[in-house]
Amino acid sequence: MKFDGLLMIPGPVHLHERIIRAMNRQMIGHRGKEFGEIMEYCVERLKELFGTRGDVYIISGSGTAGLEAAIASFSKVRRITCVDNGKFGDRLGRIASRYTETDVVRFEWGQPVDLEVVERSLAEGSEALAFVHNETSTAMLNPAKELSRIAKKYNALVIMDGITSVGGDEVRMDEWGIDVAIVGSQKCIGAPPGLAAVAVNDRAWEFYSERCPFYLDLAAYKKKLPDMQTPYTPALPLFFALEEALRMIEEEGLENRIRRHRLLSKAVREWAIEAGLQLFPQPDELSNYSNTVTAIRMPDGITDKELRGTLQREYGIAISGGQEHLKGKIFRIGNMGNVSKRHVIATLAAVQDVLMRYNACKPALHAAIEILKEL
Ligand SMILES: *Cc1c(COP(=O)(O)O)cnc(C)c1O
Repeated sequence: MKFDGLLMIPGPVHLHERIIRAMNRQMIGHRGKEFGEIMEYCVERLKELFGTRGDVYIISGSGTAGLEAAIASFSKVRRITCVDNGKFGDRLGRIASRYTETDVVRFEWGQPVDLEVVERSLAEGSEALAFVHNETSTAMLNPAKELSRIAKKYNALVIMDGITSVGGDEVRMDEWGIDVAIVGSQKCIGAPPGLAAVAVNDRAWEFYSERCPFYLDLAAYKKKLPDMQTPYTPALPLFFALEEALRMIEEEGLENRIRRHRLLSKAVREWAIEAGLQLFPQPDELSNYSNTVTAIRMPDGITDKELRGTLQREYGIAISGGQEHLKGKIFRIGNMGNVSKRHVIATLAAVQDVLMRYNACKPALHAAIEILKEL
């Protein structure tokens, strides 16, 4: 029997039926009135998710296209400091080093960032700071507000990868002093992969450089924004889906949505602890566990292949493993987008079943069920 699979990975996420249906329609001209209305709605809604009154540019491309557009378009800096405490922090440094001098401040993956080390790098002559808000590879939430505050002491441009926080957790760009932030469509927003949105304030343009890829030059997107158009043909089916996903967010209410993500991730963490498993990230008082994905150490007695393979084969449920040197060492459960408590309970019960066959955990759904009663 072929399962109707359930994606519980940190993107792409399981799609709500409404969002799947929204894509299934005839194309329209991208310079016409109808597209303009879709674009205007998406831009306005995304501003709320980013917590900004600045511009929002939508690029047809995955989240990384948004990161590269942001870093390259605003690369007129003597040096940029990139914070790396996970795979996506590492990626920021790799992108930045193609466009300007880059200082990557590295911390062990899963460990909190040391603000003093970041500050030292800025003081040594960086004019920009880039960091990941929710580090998906380790399931840790980095202290965006504090990082931004330090950067501001040195008048540095602040670029934040909000790809797995925007739409699922609190993001207040303007209040926190973030100049540029990026989100991808396939994570907490709950749409299919293929669109990236970059939010930009006025100050960022002081750092604009023409030496960026033609397709990712944000000046072209800025020029077309007053007409509610994109410079090149947009991925229309994805815009139809994004509009529907954003309508679902409006219906739910952003605060309710953030609360739901918090409770779902808390249920996963409490289950893990009660089951005798260990959470992977080690947040300090300024950082936190992620509210959109949970990383758990792979217990003794079972391999990644046994856990995820059995889960997929017998239950049709997909969870993620670790990336790079964390392969086989952790597994990750996402709760991004339009995930409900039945998805989380089904996933935890199935993971528990597989782990228990290998004597790798204790039965422990009680705490999770109690938390999910609040939803
Ligand atoms: C998924 C993700 C990305 C990369 O996005 P793609 O859509 O795969 O290009 C970047 N940063 C973070 C934090 C992510 O979770």
